[in-house]
Amino acid sequence: PLTTTDLVEDHRISVSVRKRPFNGKELKVKDIDVITIPSEDVVLVHEPKQKVDLTPFLENHTFRFDRAFDDSATNEMVYRSTARPLVETIFEGGMATCFAYGQTGSGKTHTMGGDFSGKNQNCSKGIYALAAEDVFLMLKKPEYKKLDLQVYAAFSEIYNDKVFDLLNQKAALRVLDDRMKQAHVVGLKEREVKCTEDILKLIGMGNSCRAIGQNAVNAHSSRSHAIFDIILRSKGKLHGKLSLIDLAGNERAADTCTANRQTQTEGGEINKSLLTLKECIRAMNHKAPHAPFRDSLLTRILKNSLVGENSRTCMIVTISPGMASSQSTLDTLKFADRYF
Ligand code: ADP
Ligand code: MG
Repeated sequence: PLTTTDLVEDHRISVSVRKRPFNGKELKVKDIDVITIPSEDVVLVHEPKQKVDLTPFLENHTFRFDRAFDDSATNEMVYRSTARPLVETIFEGGMATCFAYGQTGSGKTHTMGGDFSGKNQNCSKGIYALAAEDVFLMLKKPEYKKLDLQVYAAFSEIYNDKVFDLLNQKAALRVLDDRMKQAHVVGLKEREVKCTEDILKLIGMGNSCRAIGQNAVNAHSSRSHAIFDIILRSKGKLHGKLSLIDLAGNERAADTCTANRQTQTEGGEINKSLLTLKECIRAMNHKAPHAPFRDSLLTRILKNSLVGENSRTCMIVTISPGMASSQSTLDTLKFADRYF
Protein backbone atom coordinates (compact mmCIF):
# COMPACT_ATOMS: atom_id res chain seq x y z
CA PRO A 1 0.00 0.00 0.00
CA LEU A 2 1.06 3.54 -0.67
CA THR A 3 2.21 5.55 2.31
CA THR A 4 1.35 8.79 0.60
CA THR A 5 -1.81 10.79 0.36
CA ASP A 6 -3.50 10.55 -3.00
CA LEU A 7 -3.01 13.44 -5.34
CA VAL A 8 -5.87 15.86 -5.68
CA GLU A 9 -7.50 15.23 -9.04
CA ASP A 10 -7.70 18.77 -10.28
CA HIS A 11 -4.56 20.19 -8.73
CA ARG A 12 -2.86 22.69 -10.95
CA ILE A 13 0.66 21.90 -9.91
CA SER A 14 2.21 18.82 -11.39
CA VAL A 15 5.14 17.24 -9.62
CA SER A 16 7.61 14.96 -11.36
CA VAL A 17 10.67 13.25 -9.96
CA ARG A 18 13.87 12.56 -11.84
CA LYS A 19 16.59 10.21 -10.67
CA ARG A 20 20.03 10.94 -12.05
CA PRO A 21 22.57 8.26 -13.00
CA PHE A 22 25.57 7.50 -10.80
CA ASN A 23 28.47 9.88 -11.29
CA GLY A 24 32.13 8.90 -11.49
CA LYS A 25 32.76 9.59 -7.83
CA GLU A 26 29.88 7.42 -6.67
CA LEU A 27 31.00 4.61 -8.95
CA LYS A 28 34.51 4.87 -7.61
CA VAL A 29 33.48 4.46 -3.99
CA LYS A 30 30.98 1.76 -5.05
CA ASP A 31 27.99 3.61 -3.63
CA ILE A 32 24.78 1.55 -3.69
CA ASP A 33 21.71 2.49 -5.73
CA VAL A 34 18.82 2.96 -3.28
CA ILE A 35 16.21 4.30 -5.72
CA THR A 36 13.87 2.22 -7.88
CA ILE A 37 11.29 3.59 -10.28
CA PRO A 38 8.99 0.57 -10.80
CA SER A 39 6.39 2.41 -12.85
CA GLU A 40 5.79 5.78 -14.50
CA ASP A 41 4.63 7.46 -11.31
CA VAL A 42 6.19 5.63 -8.37
CA VAL A 43 9.50 6.16 -6.60
CA LEU A 44 10.84 3.65 -4.09
CA VAL A 45 13.59 4.50 -1.62
CA HIS A 46 15.34 1.61 0.05
CA GLU A 47 16.64 3.12 3.23
CA PRO A 48 19.47 1.26 4.95
CA LYS A 49 18.71 0.60 8.62
CA GLN A 50 20.01 -1.54 11.45
CA LYS A 51 18.08 -3.71 13.85
CA VAL A 52 18.90 -3.69 17.57
CA ASP A 53 21.23 -6.65 17.04
CA LEU A 54 22.93 -4.57 14.33
CA THR A 55 21.81 -6.74 11.39
CA PRO A 56 21.42 -4.40 8.46
CA PHE A 57 18.16 -4.31 6.50
CA LEU A 58 16.39 -2.05 4.06
CA GLU A 59 13.25 -0.12 4.89
CA ASN A 60 11.25 0.67 1.76
CA HIS A 61 9.44 3.97 1.31
CA THR A 62 6.95 4.47 -1.50
CA PHE A 63 6.12 7.82 -3.04
CA ARG A 64 3.72 8.61 -5.84
CA PHE A 65 4.00 11.62 -8.13
CA ASP A 66 2.52 12.73 -11.44
CA ARG A 67 5.55 11.31 -13.19
CA ALA A 68 8.72 9.54 -12.15
CA PHE A 69 11.73 9.38 -14.43
CA ASP A 70 14.42 6.76 -14.18
CA ASP A 71 18.10 7.51 -14.69
CA SER A 72 17.75 6.50 -18.34
CA ALA A 73 15.40 9.42 -19.09
CA THR A 74 16.75 12.17 -21.31
CA ASN A 75 16.22 15.90 -20.81
CA GLU A 76 13.94 15.73 -23.84
CA MET A 77 11.71 13.08 -22.20
CA VAL A 78 11.50 15.04 -18.96
CA TYR A 79 10.76 18.22 -20.88
CA ARG A 80 7.88 16.63 -22.85
CA SER A 81 5.77 15.93 -19.81
CA THR A 82 6.78 18.87 -17.62
CA ALA A 83 7.57 22.20 -19.28
CA ARG A 84 6.28 21.42 -22.78
CA PRO A 85 2.61 21.95 -21.83
CA LEU A 86 3.62 25.25 -20.25
CA VAL A 87 4.86 26.56 -23.59
CA GLU A 88 1.31 26.13 -24.87
CA THR A 89 0.02 27.97 -21.81
CA ILE A 90 2.02 31.09 -22.60
CA PHE A 91 0.91 31.10 -26.23
CA GLU A 92 -2.66 31.00 -24.93
CA GLY A 93 -1.86 34.16 -22.97
CA GLY A 94 -1.10 32.57 -19.61
CA MET A 95 1.75 32.63 -17.14
CA ALA A 96 3.74 29.52 -16.32
CA THR A 97 6.42 28.45 -13.89
CA CYS A 98 8.62 25.38 -13.86
CA PHE A 99 10.83 24.70 -10.82
CA ALA A 100 13.75 22.35 -10.38
CA TYR A 101 13.96 21.37 -6.72
CA GLY A 102 16.52 19.12 -5.07
CA GLN A 103 19.81 18.61 -3.31
CA THR A 104 22.98 20.13 -4.77
CA GLY A 105 24.45 17.70 -7.28
CA SER A 106 21.13 15.93 -7.96
CA GLY A 107 20.71 17.31 -11.48
CA LYS A 108 18.73 20.58 -11.33
CA THR A 109 21.06 22.53 -13.59
CA HIS A 110 21.57 19.56 -15.91
CA THR A 111 17.79 19.36 -16.32
CA MET A 112 17.16 23.08 -16.72
CA GLY A 113 20.20 24.55 -18.38
CA GLY A 114 21.76 21.51 -19.94
CA ASP A 115 25.42 20.83 -19.62
CA PHE A 116 27.15 24.16 -19.93
CA SER A 117 30.32 23.15 -18.19
CA GLY A 118 33.49 24.98 -19.09
CA LYS A 119 33.78 26.52 -22.53
CA ASN A 120 31.77 23.79 -24.17
CA GLN A 121 28.34 25.26 -24.75
CA ASN A 122 27.59 22.99 -27.63
CA CYS A 123 26.12 20.25 -25.54
CA SER A 124 23.07 18.38 -24.38
CA LYS A 125 20.11 20.71 -24.33
CA GLY A 126 18.23 21.37 -21.16
CA ILE A 127 14.71 22.65 -20.64
CA TYR A 128 15.69 26.27 -21.33
CA ALA A 129 16.81 25.41 -24.84
CA LEU A 130 14.10 22.83 -25.53
CA ALA A 131 11.40 25.28 -24.50
CA ALA A 132 13.02 27.96 -26.66
CA GLU A 133 12.99 25.65 -29.69
CA ASP A 134 9.29 24.99 -29.22
CA VAL A 135 8.55 28.68 -28.76
CA PHE A 136 10.10 29.45 -32.14
CA LEU A 137 8.26 26.53 -33.76
CA MET A 138 4.92 27.64 -32.30
CA LEU A 139 5.47 31.21 -33.50
CA LYS A 140 5.18 29.92 -37.05
CA LYS A 141 1.72 28.44 -36.51
CA PRO A 142 -0.94 30.47 -38.33
CA GLU A 143 -3.07 31.01 -35.22
CA TYR A 144 -0.14 32.61 -33.39
CA LYS A 145 1.42 34.29 -36.39
CA LYS A 146 -1.47 36.69 -36.55
CA LEU A 147 -0.81 37.83 -32.95
CA ASP A 148 2.48 39.32 -34.11
CA LEU A 149 4.39 38.12 -31.07
CA GLN A 150 7.95 39.04 -30.14
CA VAL A 151 10.07 36.85 -27.89
CA TYR A 152 12.27 38.21 -25.10
CA ALA A 153 14.47 36.54 -22.53
CA ALA A 154 15.59 37.64 -19.08
CA PHE A 155 17.90 35.87 -16.67
CA SER A 156 18.15 36.81 -13.01
CA GLU A 157 19.30 35.41 -9.74
CA ILE A 158 18.03 35.69 -6.20
CA TYR A 159 20.80 35.55 -3.66
CA ASN A 160 20.45 36.51 0.00
CA ASP A 161 17.10 38.15 -0.62
CA LYS A 162 18.35 40.36 -3.44
CA VAL A 163 17.79 40.17 -7.19
CA PHE A 164 20.70 40.38 -9.63
CA ASP A 165 20.55 40.72 -13.40
CA LEU A 166 22.60 37.97 -15.02
CA LEU A 167 22.34 39.62 -18.44
CA ASN A 168 23.64 42.92 -17.12
CA GLN A 169 26.84 42.29 -15.19
CA LYS A 170 25.00 41.11 -12.13
CA ALA A 171 23.51 44.50 -11.42
CA ALA A 172 21.56 44.54 -8.16
CA LEU A 173 17.93 45.38 -8.86
CA ARG A 174 15.21 46.90 -6.75
CA VAL A 175 11.89 45.21 -6.19
CA LEU A 176 8.85 47.44 -5.88
CA ASP A 177 5.17 46.72 -5.35
CA ASP A 178 2.49 48.10 -7.63
CA ARG A 179 -0.95 49.20 -6.43
CA MET A 180 -2.17 45.61 -6.64
CA LYS A 181 0.66 44.60 -4.31
CA GLN A 182 2.36 42.64 -7.04
CA ALA A 183 6.14 42.94 -6.79
CA HIS A 184 8.11 44.00 -9.87
CA VAL A 185 11.83 43.72 -10.45
CA VAL A 186 12.79 47.19 -11.63
CA GLY A 187 15.11 47.44 -14.61
CA LEU A 188 15.56 43.74 -15.33
CA LYS A 189 16.99 43.58 -18.86
CA GLU A 190 14.87 41.80 -21.42
CA ARG A 191 16.70 40.87 -24.61
CA GLU A 192 14.77 40.27 -27.78
CA VAL A 193 15.59 36.83 -29.21
CA LYS A 194 14.98 35.63 -32.76
CA CYS A 195 16.08 32.02 -32.60
CA THR A 196 17.19 29.26 -30.23
CA GLU A 197 20.87 30.15 -30.76
CA ASP A 198 20.16 33.64 -29.40
CA ILE A 199 18.75 32.01 -26.27
CA LEU A 200 21.72 29.67 -25.92
CA LYS A 201 24.08 32.65 -26.12
CA LEU A 202 22.17 34.41 -23.36
CA ILE A 203 22.25 31.32 -21.16
CA GLY A 204 26.01 31.07 -21.65
CA MET A 205 26.37 34.75 -20.85
CA GLY A 206 24.18 34.51 -17.76
CA ASN A 207 25.96 31.42 -16.50
CA SER A 208 29.38 33.04 -16.74
CA CYS A 209 27.97 36.14 -15.07
CA ARG A 210 26.60 33.96 -12.31
CA ALA A 211 30.07 32.73 -11.50
CA ILE A 212 31.74 36.18 -11.26
CA GLY A 213 33.56 36.60 -7.97
CA GLN A 214 32.97 33.00 -6.98
CA ASN A 215 35.46 30.19 -6.63
CA ALA A 216 33.19 27.69 -8.27
CA VAL A 217 29.91 28.01 -10.11
CA ASN A 218 28.43 25.10 -8.27
CA ALA A 219 29.30 26.41 -4.82
CA HIS A 220 27.52 29.62 -5.64
CA SER A 221 24.61 28.16 -7.58
CA SER A 222 23.76 25.89 -4.68
CA ARG A 223 23.05 29.03 -2.65
CA SER A 224 20.98 31.01 -5.11
CA HIS A 225 17.87 30.67 -7.25
CA ALA A 226 18.33 31.27 -10.99
CA ILE A 227 15.30 32.46 -12.93
CA PHE A 228 15.25 32.22 -16.71
CA ASP A 229 12.23 33.94 -18.28
CA ILE A 230 10.90 33.51 -21.79
CA ILE A 231 8.50 36.36 -22.43
CA LEU A 232 6.00 36.81 -25.26
CA ARG A 233 4.90 40.32 -26.12
CA SER A 234 2.36 41.49 -28.64
CA LYS A 235 2.98 45.09 -29.73
CA GLY A 236 4.90 45.66 -26.54
CA LYS A 237 2.13 44.33 -24.31
CA LEU A 238 2.77 41.25 -22.19
CA HIS A 239 1.10 38.18 -23.70
CA GLY A 240 2.60 35.30 -21.72
CA LYS A 241 5.62 34.46 -19.61
CA LEU A 242 7.38 31.21 -18.80
CA SER A 243 9.72 31.27 -15.79
CA LEU A 244 12.15 28.37 -15.55
CA ILE A 245 13.68 28.27 -12.10
CA ASP A 246 16.78 26.43 -10.95
CA LEU A 247 16.25 26.60 -7.17
CA ALA A 248 18.98 26.74 -4.54
CA GLY A 249 20.05 23.37 -3.17
CA ASN A 250 17.51 22.28 -0.59
CA GLU A 251 20.16 20.88 1.76
CA ARG A 252 20.97 24.47 2.73
CA ALA A 253 17.62 24.68 4.37
CA ALA A 254 18.59 22.03 6.89
CA ASP A 255 22.18 22.67 7.87
CA THR A 256 21.97 26.28 8.96
CA CYS A 257 23.14 25.80 12.52
CA THR A 258 26.47 24.16 11.79
CA ALA A 259 27.93 26.65 9.37
CA ASN A 260 29.68 29.99 9.67
CA ARG A 261 27.90 33.30 9.67
CA GLN A 262 27.73 33.89 5.93
CA THR A 263 26.47 30.38 5.31
CA GLN A 264 23.99 30.85 8.13
CA THR A 265 22.52 33.94 6.52
CA GLU A 266 22.40 32.21 3.14
CA GLY A 267 20.88 29.12 4.69
CA GLY A 268 18.31 31.21 6.51
CA GLU A 269 17.20 32.93 3.31
CA ILE A 270 17.06 29.69 1.37
CA ASN A 271 15.18 28.04 4.18
CA LYS A 272 12.69 30.87 4.21
CA SER A 273 12.14 30.96 0.47
CA LEU A 274 11.80 27.19 0.01
CA LEU A 275 9.48 26.88 3.00
CA THR A 276 7.40 29.80 1.81
CA LEU A 277 7.23 28.32 -1.67
CA LYS A 278 6.01 25.07 -0.16
CA GLU A 279 3.38 26.86 1.91
CA CYS A 280 2.17 28.84 -1.10
CA ILE A 281 1.91 25.79 -3.31
CA ARG A 282 0.10 23.89 -0.61
CA ALA A 283 -2.33 26.75 -0.13
CA MET A 284 -2.92 26.90 -3.89
CA ASN A 285 -3.47 23.16 -4.15
CA HIS A 286 -6.00 23.28 -1.36
CA LYS A 287 -7.58 26.47 -2.67
CA ALA A 288 -6.89 28.10 0.68
CA PRO A 289 -7.95 31.75 0.95
CA HIS A 290 -4.54 32.91 2.11
CA ALA A 291 -1.09 32.01 0.85
CA PRO A 292 2.02 33.64 2.34
CA PHE A 293 3.46 34.99 -0.93
CA ARG A 294 4.82 38.04 0.84
CA ASP A 295 7.04 36.04 3.16
CA SER A 296 9.89 35.62 0.67
CA LEU A 297 11.29 37.53 -2.26
CA LEU A 298 11.02 34.50 -4.56
CA THR A 299 7.29 34.06 -3.97
CA ARG A 300 6.61 37.81 -4.00
CA ILE A 301 8.09 38.08 -7.46
CA LEU A 302 6.36 34.94 -8.72
CA LYS A 303 2.94 35.56 -7.21
CA ASN A 304 1.26 36.73 -10.41
CA SER A 305 2.68 33.83 -12.36
CA LEU A 306 1.58 31.29 -9.79
CA VAL A 307 -1.95 32.40 -9.04
CA GLY A 308 -3.16 33.97 -12.26
CA GLU A 309 -6.33 32.62 -13.80
CA ASN A 310 -4.49 31.06 -16.72
CA SER A 311 -1.39 30.09 -14.84
CA ARG A 312 0.21 26.68 -14.63
CA THR A 313 3.05 25.36 -12.51
CA CYS A 314 5.19 22.28 -12.57
CA MET A 315 7.87 21.08 -10.23
CA ILE A 316 10.70 18.78 -11.20
CA VAL A 317 12.22 17.14 -8.16
CA THR A 318 15.72 15.84 -8.82
CA ILE A 319 17.24 13.08 -6.71
CA SER A 320 20.60 11.34 -6.42
CA PRO A 321 20.63 7.54 -6.61
CA GLY A 322 23.21 6.72 -3.96
CA MET A 323 22.99 5.43 -0.44
CA ALA A 324 25.28 8.24 0.68
CA SER A 325 22.51 10.71 -0.23
CA SER A 326 19.57 8.62 0.93
CA GLN A 327 18.67 10.73 3.96
CA SER A 328 18.66 13.89 1.92
CA THR A 329 16.72 12.15 -0.85
CA LEU A 330 14.07 11.01 1.62
CA ASP A 331 13.76 14.55 3.00
CA THR A 332 13.39 15.88 -0.53
CA LEU A 333 10.70 13.37 -1.48
CA LYS A 334 8.77 13.84 1.76
CA PHE A 335 8.82 17.58 1.25
CA ALA A 336 7.60 17.28 -2.33
CA ASP A 337 5.10 14.53 -1.60
CA ARG A 338 3.28 16.07 1.31
CA TYR A 339 3.04 19.60 0.21
CA PHE A 340 3.10 19.99 -3.53
P1 ADP B 1 22.59 20.55 -9.31
O1 ADP B 1 22.35 21.68 -10.24
O2 ADP B 1 21.31 19.97 -8.75
O3 ADP B 1 23.55 20.91 -8.21
P2 ADP B 1 23.92 19.36 -11.54
O4 ADP B 1 22.87 19.52 -12.57
O5 ADP B 1 25.04 20.32 -11.57
O6 ADP B 1 23.27 19.35 -10.08
O7 ADP B 1 24.43 17.85 -11.62
C1 ADP B 1 25.60 17.40 -10.96
C2 ADP B 1 26.41 16.57 -11.94
O8 ADP B 1 25.69 15.41 -12.36
C3 ADP B 1 26.78 17.31 -13.21
O9 ADP B 1 28.05 16.94 -13.60
C4 ADP B 1 25.75 16.83 -14.20
O10 ADP B 1 26.22 16.92 -15.52
C5 ADP B 1 25.50 15.40 -13.77
N1 ADP B 1 24.11 15.00 -14.03
C6 ADP B 1 23.03 15.41 -13.37
N2 ADP B 1 21.90 14.85 -13.84
C7 ADP B 1 22.29 14.05 -14.85
C8 ADP B 1 21.58 13.18 -15.76
N3 ADP B 1 20.25 13.02 -15.69
N4 ADP B 1 22.32 12.53 -16.67
C9 ADP B 1 23.67 12.65 -16.73
N5 ADP B 1 24.37 13.45 -15.91
C10 ADP B 1 23.70 14.14 -14.98
MG1 MG C 1 23.07 23.62 -10.11
